[in-house]
Amino acid sequence: MFHDLHLDIYQHIFDYLPQQDLLNLLLLRNHTFYRQIMKYIPKLLKIHDNQVLKYAARLNLIISIKFIIVSLNWNTGLHYACFGGHIMLVKLMIKKGANDWNIALREACRGGHKILAELMIEKGAINFNLGLDGACSGGHISIAEWMIEKGADNWDEAFESACGNGHWALVLLMIEKGASHVKCGFNQACKGGHKDIVNLMIKMGADNWNRGLFNACQGGHIDIIEMMIKRGANDWNNSLLDACKYGHKTVARLMIEKGATICTYCNKSLEEHYNLL
Ligand SMILES: [Zn+2]
Repeated sequence: MFHDLHLDIYQHIFDYLPQQDLLNLLLLRNHTFYRQIMKYIPKLLKIHDNQVLKYAARLNLIISIKFIIVSLNWNTGLHYACFGGHIMLVKLMIKKGANDWNIALREACRGGHKILAELMIEKGAINFNLGLDGACSGGHISIAEWMIEKGADNWDEAFESACGNGHWALVLLMIEKGASHVKCGFNQACKGGHKDIVNLMIKMGADNWNRGLFNACQGGHIDIIEMMIKRGANDWNNSLLDACKYGHKTVARLMIEKGATICTYCNKSLEEHYNLL
C-alpha cells in the first residue's frame, strides 16, 4: 500500500514536526487537516533541504501525506514514534489500535529510548532478539546489555547491525558473546563505510575483496573502495552496476576509469555515463 517515497515522507513528518503540532494535526477533521498541513510543508522545506519533501511538494503529494497520516497504518506510526522517542505519539498510536509490539520494541531500542522499550514489553513485546538488534543498530550498549539479560541470544544478527552502523563496542561485545558471521559483518562494514571494523573483519578472516568492493560501491565509500582494490578487487562491471543503482556518480566514474566495460543497470553506453556524471 505504501511505496518507499510515501514511507520516506512519513518518516520526515514524524521526525521533524513538533510533537504537539503533529498531535494536533492528527486530531483534526479532514477538511481542516488539508489546510493545516499545507502550512507546514514550506516550513519543513526551509528547515530541512530535503529532496523527498521537495519532490512531494512538486508533485503535489500533499494528498498522499494526508492519506498516510490519517491512514489506518497506526503500526507504522508506532514504529516511527518509538524510534523518535515521542511518547505522546506512541500513546496515541496505541489508542488508535497499533499493536505491533515486537517491531516497536526494536525501534525503541534503536532510538535508545528505554522507557518506550519498557512500555512495549509491558504491552506484550517478547522478542528480545529484535530489541538487541535495534540496540546494536543504534549503538546503545546499556540497552543491548539489558536485552541480553532479558534473554536475547541472536548474536550474529545483532553483530551485523553493529558492523553496518559502525558501533565498535557493540561489535566487540557480540564477538565476545559468540557472533561468528565475519563475512556478513565485513560486507555490512564495507557498505556502511566503517574502516576500523572492515580491518577487524579482515583480521578475523574476511577476504572476499570483490564482495567488499560491491558493498563499498553501494555505500559510496571511496576509502573502502580503494582498500578493496589494493587487496585485489577487480570486478569493475558489477561495481559500476552497484554504484549506479545507489546513485553514487563519483564512484561510477571511478569504476569506468578502472576498466568497467558495460553497465547492466542503466542500459546506457559508457560515453552516456560520462555525460551524466
Ligand atoms: Zn550505470
